Amino acid sequence: MINTVTGPVKASKLGTTYIHEHVIVHPNELPAFEPYSLTNVDKSSREVESFVRAGGSTIVDLTPLNFGRDPDALYEVSMRTGATIVFTTGFHKDAHIPRWFFEMGDAEIAEVIEGEIEHGVGELHLKPGVVKVGTSLDAILPSEKRAIRICSSVARNAGLAMVTHCDKGRLALEQLAEISARGVELEHVCVSHTDLTLDADYLKRVMDTGACISFDHVGRDLEGGDHERVSILAELVRSGYGDRVCLAGDMGKKSYLPAYGGKPGFAYILTTLRDRLLEHIDARDFERMVRDNPQRVLDGYES
Ligand SMILES: [Zn+2]
Repeated sequence: MINTVTGPVKASKLGTTYIHEHVIVHPNELPAFEPYSLTNVDKSSREVESFVRAGGSTIVDLTPLNFGRDPDALYEVSMRTGATIVFTTGFHKDAHIPRWFFEMGDAEIAEVIEGEIEHGVGELHLKPGVVKVGTSLDAILPSEKRAIRICSSVARNAGLAMVTHCDKGRLALEQLAEISARGVELEHVCVSHTDLTLDADYLKRVMDTGACISFDHVGRDLEGGDHERVSILAELVRSGYGDRVCLAGDMGKKSYLPAYGGKPGFAYILTTLRDRLLEHIDARDFERMVRDNPQRVLDGYES
């Protein structure tokens, strides 16, 4: 069972799933993060409706602690649209780790994360379904290493999946080594943003660990028709990696969402991008990337 804002749901019932999105975000570092501020429940619901109309079913809102997460508002969006929404506990990279993290001991921090998973968050006491960690560009910083250690142990004990932030797609292998050292099964880990490297050999090495990768920076090259990513995805499917890739948009910015005045929006992957991909891969391969693979990552495991 997976925790969603409307209660536990069987993995097999998640349907078409984006494993890395942002539906509601109240960044606490305004005004620098104003472009990332998604605070309007009406607009965010319109965006999620477009996803549902295109055949979508589940969205993982990967906004972590200290980045303006709002599970109660996600509940409202889920009720209005019928979409299943999963929210996140854990941390982003060092720049966004909260001050209190640096003032607490490891056990105390673990208690905070465990408390969210056991007792819930916000007025509605909703429970997170995934644990996030993140790393900076050139090195895993001490705070990040500590967050990975603590969060991995909590995720393993709770049987929750982990979805990570890799700055510019890098350091995925180093992250996975740290995570796996805490006993987490990498089948339940998805590393985000790795498509930014546009390096198929690197992506294969990451997937050879057993972890999934997410292609989540699609929809940025609209003029070029996402040509580079489409050809890399086709190559990965051809070489047998189609069961390790999750497709998502990470469109946590006004300029990506029509409801906030941007493009291409949450429906893009299931419509325009799908059509382009189907010139190179089977519909079954596409479904794996938006349904079976995210489902397998998110599925809880015996702790
Ligand atoms: Zn994100």
